[in-house]
Amino acid sequence: MKALVKHSPKVGIWMEEVPNPKCGPADVKIQITHTAICGTDKHIFDWDEWAQKNLKLPLVVGHEFCGVVKEIGSQVTHYKEGDRVSGEGHLTCGNCRNCRAGKKHLCPETIGIGVHCDGAFAEYLVIPESNVWPLHNEIPSEIASFFDPLGNAVHTALTFNLTGEDVLICGAGPIGMMATAICKFSGARNIVISDVNDYRLNIAKDLGATRTVNPRKKNIKDLFSELNISQGFDVGLEMSGNSEAFNEMISLMYNGGSIALLGLLPESTKVNWNEIIFKGLNLKGIYGREMYDTWYKMTQMIRSGLSISKVLTHRFKIDDFEKAFEVIKDGNCGKVVLEW
Ligand code: NAD
Ligand code: ZN
Repeated sequence: MKALVKHSPKVGIWMEEVPNPKCGPADVKIQITHTAICGTDKHIFDWDEWAQKNLKLPLVVGHEFCGVVKEIGSQVTHYKEGDRVSGEGHLTCGNCRNCRAGKKHLCPETIGIGVHCDGAFAEYLVIPESNVWPLHNEIPSEIASFFDPLGNAVHTALTFNLTGEDVLICGAGPIGMMATAICKFSGARNIVISDVNDYRLNIAKDLGATRTVNPRKKNIKDLFSELNISQGFDVGLEMSGNSEAFNEMISLMYNGGSIALLGLLPESTKVNWNEIIFKGLNLKGIYGREMYDTWYKMTQMIRSGLSISKVLTHRFKIDDFEKAFEVIKDGNCGKVVLEW
C-alpha cells in the first residue's frame, strides 16, 4: 500500500510502498479516506530535536484520520465492512491501575500511532476495535478526520465549569480556535483569545471569541473595563505552549481561578510560582482525550449544533502532501486536511 513514511533522519517525509498491515482477531482494518496534519507531524517532517530524540525510523506518520472499515478480526463485534469511522490514536495497556479504573488517558504505557508505531497517513490502518470510533451520518468525514485535536480542545475546555465565566485562551492554533467555539457553546460569559498571528485570531473571532488580542499590539488587561471583568479571568486555557503567554495568563487570573494546561511548554520555562500560590490557582495538565467520554461529548455537541467547520481552511489531494506541509509551515491556516 501507499504510505507517507519518515525513512531517513533528515527533513521531509516520502510517499512509499509499504507492506499492508495485518488485521489481528481483535482488530479493525480501516481504509483511510481523510487525514489531517498535526503540529507533531510538522516536528517529524522537520526532524527537529524532539523528533530526533523520540522516533525510531522508518515510521509511517500521522494520527488524525477518518476512513471506512475494510476488514474485521474474528473477535470484533461492533463494526462491519463499510462503516465510516475515526479512532483514538493512543493505544493503552488495558491492565494498569488507571486503565482498569476507566482512566485510559492516564495509562503510563500509552503508545501513540504515527509516533511510537506506524500511523494513519497510509491507505490502510489497523487498530484495536476498542480504539475505533463510529461516525453518525451527519458528521462529514473531513471534519471527523480531526476529531483527535477536537478532542484535545473539548477535554481542555470542559475540564473546569465555564457557564457564566470569563475565559482566557492563549494560542489560536487549531486547538485554541476549536476551544473558542466549545466555550461559546458551553455558555462562557467572555471569551478572550490571544495569538501573535492575526490570520488565526480572525478565525477565532468567527468561531465566537468576544475579543481577540495580539499581545504584540495590545495589552489584554486593557480589555477588562470594556468587558466588565473586575478582577481577572475565572478560567484559563493554555494552548500556545509559549512561556511568556503562560506567565501572562497567571498574572491575569482572578484569585481562585483555574488553568487547564494543554500547550507543551519549553523545558526552559520559568513560572511565577508565588503568584500561583498567593492567588490560590488550580492548575491541571491535560493529555490527549478521555477515553471515551471526550469522544462521546464532541460527537454529541456537533450533533447538537457545535460548528467547527471554519477551522478547516485547506484541503489537498494526498499526492500534494508537500504543498500541505508548506501551508502548515507558513502558519496562516487552521486545519489542513488531506484526501486519500
Ligand atoms: P499550534 O502550534 O498550531 O498553536 C499554537 C499557537 O500559539 C500558534 O498559533 C502560535 O502563533 C500561538 N502563540 C505563540 N506565541 C504566543 C503568545 N506569546 N501568545 C499567544 N499565542 C501565542 O498548536 P495546536 O495544534 O493548536 O496545539 C496547541 C498546543 O497544544 C501546542 O503547544 C501543542 O504542542 C499542544 N498539544 C498538546 C497535547 C496534549 O495532549 N497535551 C495534544 C495536542 C497538542
Ligand atoms: Zn494502562
